Amino acid sequence: MHDEEAIVRSVKRERTVPRTTGTERGAQRTRMLLRVSVLGVGVANGVLLLPYARALWWQHVYRTPPARWLIPVAGVPVESVSPSFGAPRSMGPHEGIDVAAADGTPVVAAADGVVIGNRQTMIGGHVLWLMGTGGRLYYYAHMRELAPRMTMGRFVAAGEQIGSVGNSGNASTTLPHLHFATYLVTSRFYPMRYHPIDPYPLLAAAAPNATSGRIAPPP
Ligand SMILES: [Zn+2]
Repeated sequence: MHDEEAIVRSVKRERTVPRTTGTERGAQRTRMLLRVSVLGVGVANGVLLLPYARALWWQHVYRTPPARWLIPVAGVPVESVSPSFGAPRSMGPHEGIDVAAADGTPVVAAADGVVIGNRQTMIGGHVLWLMGTGGRLYYYAHMRELAPRMTMGRFVAAGEQIGSVGNSGNASTTLPHLHFATYLVTSRFYPMRYHPIDPYPLLAAAAPNATSGRIAPPP
């Protein structure tokens, strides 16, 4: 009997002890903040998922080699393209090859890519930059004009007309030709770090499958 009373008293005493001490309230507040933070991080992750997916996509694009190559000027056989990469020029070694053709001949994309530059410059004249797979950048210069719809971020398939041959920029005193250059991006995290590579062997190897003649040159 005495023991039972003692037990009841102790239970009552426990009940009278405040359930949440100051320390516990602090802990609850911290827990709540953490929950909100986790929720916040979750929301932030949701928002960040898009750039992250985009980064993953570019990693994938970087690792994928270019599928097919075409001579970038319609109707020009590979025999007519001279390897002039590295030849001395007024502004240093030639960073691409020149494909001579009549003024206005369609220029086609040598490989699939996404438009990352479409402007007029002092040196290149009407130029187009395409970013392709395998960390490749393609530079088409001295064009008379760009084809319509060569807007930033647009996908361009190999063989699609991107412009026409001309002699714009610092080529105004030369015969019409396309300056075609290929660059290799050397950093996956800093896309503007790249160096020129000779496109000629790649174009020569692609020649048997080239269908650049499917767009007839103007008469
Ligand atoms: Zn050139």
